[in-house]
Amino acid sequence: MNILTFKENFRTHLSNSFGKTLRRKIVVIESDDWGSIRTASKEAYQAMLQFGLKLETNHYGFDSLESNEDLELLFNVLLDFKDATGRPPVFTPFCNMANPDFEAIESTNFSDYAFESIDKTIARYPNHDKLLHYWQEGERRRLFCPQLHGREHIHVGRWWKLIAQEKDDGMLEAFRWRSVGASRWNGKEYPNYLGALHPEKKSEIPGLHKMLEDAGRLYEQYMGHKPTCFVAPNAEEPAELETTLKKIGVETITRAKRRIYPLGDGQFKKEWNWPGKINAHGQVILVRNAFFEPVCFGEPDKAHITDWVDRCLKQISIAFFWNKPAVISSHRVNYIGFIELKNRDKGIRELRRLLKAIIKKWPEVEFMTSAELGELLMNKA
Ligand SMILES: [Zn+2]
Repeated sequence: MNILTFKENFRTHLSNSFGKTLRRKIVVIESDDWGSIRTASKEAYQAMLQFGLKLETNHYGFDSLESNEDLELLFNVLLDFKDATGRPPVFTPFCNMANPDFEAIESTNFSDYAFESIDKTIARYPNHDKLLHYWQEGERRRLFCPQLHGREHIHVGRWWKLIAQEKDDGMLEAFRWRSVGASRWNGKEYPNYLGALHPEKKSEIPGLHKMLEDAGRLYEQYMGHKPTCFVAPNAEEPAELETTLKKIGVETITRAKRRIYPLGDGQFKKEWNWPGKINAHGQVILVRNAFFEPVCFGEPDKAHITDWVDRCLKQISIAFFWNKPAVISSHRVNYIGFIELKNRDKGIRELRRLLKAIIKKWPEVEFMTSAELGELLMNKA
């Protein structure tokens, strides 16, 4: 099998042909989901699996709040390399600032939803006390520069309906294990409750503005300055949230090339995006054009991918062919060993291979943060 199928190859070339050109060879690594919970522990993983929650065919079952060690190992890999500017490769992690407060919800007997900020979540976990320290340290050393993914990584309305109104036994089992993420139980496919800012009804939208304001405030509290970049969790957000994003400091937004976003009440609108596009609020758009998810398994549409490193290199080379920056998507799950050590071993090993190959193939490469690339593209406007 070719590295990219004929169709993928054609599509990758076509989509890279649009947008602002940069003659420098720039690579940005964007990584979603940091700060959010998923599977709380190995015990939770096994118990939920036993209960019949669908986890086994989805590598995200091994995703969990990043531990001290997860962050240390990732930083160490990055520090082993240098780009043409003499600096190490850098990650832009998109972070959630809060999680559901399971205890508080239980204490009201499921009558009220409550969330807790990340400093409270960390305190419930055994090897995670340095998480915020590493977020700050990562930024200071320009290795791991946190940006915003939202408040919680769940759509409160949809999650709450399953838990508190339908009292779905599968979802309640996950709740007992302080976990989220299972997609199915007992033949019932759950709606996308991870798409935090993806409304069903127009009437929800004011609440989504509020969620983003909370997220911005917490980010500032932890990082000491406002966030400047944003990517929505899991599903598209309505366009009017751009005003609140602007208000909380966001100047750079990562978007799907072909974005179908909700207007609410079952209506949708389509837009095309390209790197360097400027929206109505003067914010600059980035588009991901390479994908590196080496721990992925069990997903039928990715079954043909045998080598994520070769595939990602090919995608980067297409981006460079069209004089575009390469923006790689690589989710947190690839670097997490708390549930399954082999998962992190594989992710870290493959990241090492990827970084080595990029630097060898393009010695002039510059690794950048999303914020730096956003500014560069903005200045070309
Ligand atoms: Zn996400």
